[in-house]
Amino acid sequence: MNYVSTRGSAPVLEFDEVLLAGLARDGGLYVPESWPVFDADKIRSLKNLSYPELAFEIIKPFVGNTVSDKDLKAILDGAYAHFDTAEVAPLKKLDTDEYLLELFHGPTIAFKDMAMQFLGPMFDHVLRKRQQRVTIVGATSGDTGSAAIEACRDRAAIDIFILYPHGRVSDVQRKQMTTVMAANVHCIAVKGTFDDCQDMVKNLFNDTDFRDRWNLSAVNSINWARIVAQIVYYFWAALKVGSPDKAVSFAVPTGNFGNVFAGYAARKMGLPIERLVIGSNSNDILTRFFETGTMEMNGVHPTISPSMDIQVSSNFERLLFDLFDRDGAAVKRCIDGFRETGKFSVSPQQFDAARQLFEGYRFDDAETKAMIALIYKETGELLDPHSAVGVAAARRAKPHIRTPLVALATAHPAKFPDAVAAASGQHPALPAHLTDLFDRKEKSDVIDNDLDKVRSHIIKTLEGTA
Ligand SMILES: *Cc1c(COP(=O)(O)O)cnc(C)c1O
Repeated sequence: MNYVSTRGSAPVLEFDEVLLAGLARDGGLYVPESWPVFDADKIRSLKNLSYPELAFEIIKPFVGNTVSDKDLKAILDGAYAHFDTAEVAPLKKLDTDEYLLELFHGPTIAFKDMAMQFLGPMFDHVLRKRQQRVTIVGATSGDTGSAAIEACRDRAAIDIFILYPHGRVSDVQRKQMTTVMAANVHCIAVKGTFDDCQDMVKNLFNDTDFRDRWNLSAVNSINWARIVAQIVYYFWAALKVGSPDKAVSFAVPTGNFGNVFAGYAARKMGLPIERLVIGSNSNDILTRFFETGTMEMNGVHPTISPSMDIQVSSNFERLLFDLFDRDGAAVKRCIDGFRETGKFSVSPQQFDAARQLFEGYRFDDAETKAMIALIYKETGELLDPHSAVGVAAARRAKPHIRTPLVALATAHPAKFPDAVAAASGQHPALPAHLTDLFDRKEKSDVIDNDLDKVRSHIIKTLEGTA
């Protein structure tokens, strides 16, 4: 299978190259040249598979000939072996035709694990075959860092450095990063803000000598392999509620548009998805787009669902590419204009096309807490604030949706204990594999907010002279 860039001028690549490249060279995002399509009989035949078996069937056409069936199977068996339930992603019934798909049973108890646990071994496999090594450098305000660390720990071809703002991430989030004792994992607490960390990572990538010498790479949310792994659980849940003989709809708490784009991809592959309902917090750039056809930047507002506190949704460009009939030059003009003015609009026809599948709703912190309290009262389930935004969106859409509706739960409530306790009166307990988290030893280097100091620390660490 070949991949093309959403901006039309980067080289066409295969899966392994797309995996390592991340962003395309023209600044675009990679998407498949054409979608693999499963007919109803094929989808029906997937019904009784285990999660890793289903993942194999879904992911195989995207990987093409770049990884053998045997290796792909082994990678997937390993990837989902570190989840705390054999089901991997349990589906719970909340109400008539209303379900909750739990995507937080991985090592860091948030949905990023669903893709990262696949991405880490996949990177390692491809790098070893090519006899290459990479240095992954990333900045985190909390969640993504720990998911990336868990995915890359103990992998022979990878060193990973994660920068986080010293004293500005939650205790659970810090501990999930710093207690990983693997020799290839390096946490750096920068005496600065998250933005300082992010700027520093950008500057390290812009330092071409440094980037080429250490083969810098990223595992951020635009990596195509992450989307591929996320398509699997849309099929998983749909099969359990009666697809392909019944249509299904999903409600998705959304930030960078990565999770819900995987739902769009599943529909392109033939899964009968009727509606994709987006939930946003007060950072509602997507919800406003699906209301008006205009995308407009509006700053970032801190909320109790911080993993959705975004300024722009990077993966949205993949949908835009299809709305523009796969005209990369048109996408580039649109994005260039957006960069300049902070705003763009699509045509009425394009807006109609988007609205045929998507709708969006926003919820502020008070509404999110009210939903946590309501669901606890109704069902005894504790939702984290991100999942609560998803369920709230599902409830808003439910009156006009005639299919089973599956809301995606993207984090375990114990990942955000303060907001959950304030809303429900219940203090959520950490799952068994993390109960001793606060007793574990930590390993992290505190470094000044100074690019040269951070760079020389990374070099010394890689040379083994730190
Ligand atoms: C990353 C994240 C989201 C948002 O997902 P996108 O793919 O960025 O839309 C929602 N909830 C949680 C808990 C997350 O970590």
